[in-house]
Amino acid sequence: MKTLQRDKIKTITAHYIDGAFVESHGQEVMDIIRPTDGQVIGRVKLGDEEDTRRAIGAAKRAFATFGRTTKEERLKILRKLHQAVSARIDDLTTVMVEEYGGVVQFARLIVESGATAFLAAEKALEELPMTQRWGKTTVTLEPVGVAGLITAWNANALFICLKLASAVAAGCTVVIKPSELSSLQTQMMIECLNAVELPKGICNVVIGRGDVVGAELVRNPDVNKISFTGSVAVGERIMRDGAATMKRVTLELGGKSPTILLDDAALDQAIPSALQMAFLNSGQACAAGTRLLVPKSRLDEIKRGISDAMRSFTVGDPADAKTVIGPMVSQKQYERVQSYIRKGIEEGAEVVAGGEGHPEGFDVGYFVKPTVFANVKNDMTIAEEEIFGPVLCVIAYDSEDEAIRIANDSKYGLHASVLSTDLQRARRVASQIRAGRVVINGMTDDPQAPWGGFKYSGVGREYGRYGIEAFLEPRAILEA
Ligand code: NAD
Repeated sequence: MKTLQRDKIKTITAHYIDGAFVESHGQEVMDIIRPTDGQVIGRVKLGDEEDTRRAIGAAKRAFATFGRTTKEERLKILRKLHQAVSARIDDLTTVMVEEYGGVVQFARLIVESGATAFLAAEKALEELPMTQRWGKTTVTLEPVGVAGLITAWNANALFICLKLASAVAAGCTVVIKPSELSSLQTQMMIECLNAVELPKGICNVVIGRGDVVGAELVRNPDVNKISFTGSVAVGERIMRDGAATMKRVTLELGGKSPTILLDDAALDQAIPSALQMAFLNSGQACAAGTRLLVPKSRLDEIKRGISDAMRSFTVGDPADAKTVIGPMVSQKQYERVQSYIRKGIEEGAEVVAGGEGHPEGFDVGYFVKPTVFANVKNDMTIAEEEIFGPVLCVIAYDSEDEAIRIANDSKYGLHASVLSTDLQRARRVASQIRAGRVVINGMTDDPQAPWGGFKYSGVGREYGRYGIEAFLEPRAILEA
């Protein structure tokens, strides 16, 4: 595993507009801070409304021809994008570890999933009928137009690839506004896009703040669609502000995902699996299974099992392949997690592992102690709100029905999981969970299966056919 040169500060001053690196019109400079030690490792010049409008203009011009391309032409572009990102997997992984603090094993998975997103979109596009005819009626699926793609920091490469793949498959041109906390990763992604030599203006990237660049995308009448990954608060705002120009929106928002451990579960497998889901991406994952529902009859046994298993959830240098939990992305995120741990203690939850403060030996950087609370009630703040850090709530239930009721008693509905040795029973429970995805007996993925949330977890779906359809409008032509 390579690391970036520790003493070299990288400066980013350009956006990617109309197929070229264009110097930023915006002049605000932001430091890029390494989460493992709080050191400045780069500086980025943030874009402004003018940069954003230039990018939207380029995307609009490009749409006039790209919107009329054939499926075959777009399939070819998806293949090239796949090759370009695949060629930089090592570099993209290194920079994700450095800039964001993602643990290397998980960072690599994220980047690989980003590359795979283009192949998955290719397969889905091949199978998607774009024209249907009956009688004198012809229905075609048309690209929605210029799309603004706004991403969160916790898996920047994946979100860019996923949204771009679906948009390109549909024939949309895009302006990407990645998280400003991911500028080094974004720069590398732009190099991948540039290597493909796409027709000019199909894919533009403006690095900048959400309330500047993101807000312009949401407000601008030449942007037809926003595909957003981030918090509920910003998602609400995008829906409200986008209404003025009738934006189509896909919103991938937060979660407070339940893991239902059924009373027949084999604990030697179920406990590590539940902890893995809770501490995914150091807990900074929208899908993290942060509410573990366990049968009251086995509570003591499960608490002991968790205490033992927590020993293998080691905190450390994210570049070390043995590390399971890396630092939080920023000082702000560190403080947010601390405040929730404090809240959990104040609310009377029992600390089974972890607690407040830095783990021993990690006084610099944004490291927190992976924390497990037992004796949690589902209406406590720590069980209701998304913490976005390695904090797990163990909630006891009396019956299967009660477990399902608690799982669904949340404003969120993004992801859930069921652990059981009885597959029929697990399927029956899964089918009663109000969430966009439910996994049985461990974390797993399928790039053709829809991803997205019920309730406050969002609007619309990504991945596969569902993801492409989110960038399409049906048009019917009827002959008299
Ligand atoms: P955030 O909402 O603060 O920021 C997300 C993006 O929105 C950033 O690029 C930001 O610059 C931009 N933004 C901020 N204000 C904006 C505005 N007024 N208009 C337009 N854009 C604006 O979220 P975050 O802290 O980057 O990410 C964490 C959140 O993302 C968590 O809630 C997490 O659950 C969620 N998330 C969801 C998924 C999913 O697939 N459902 C995946 C990852 C993260």
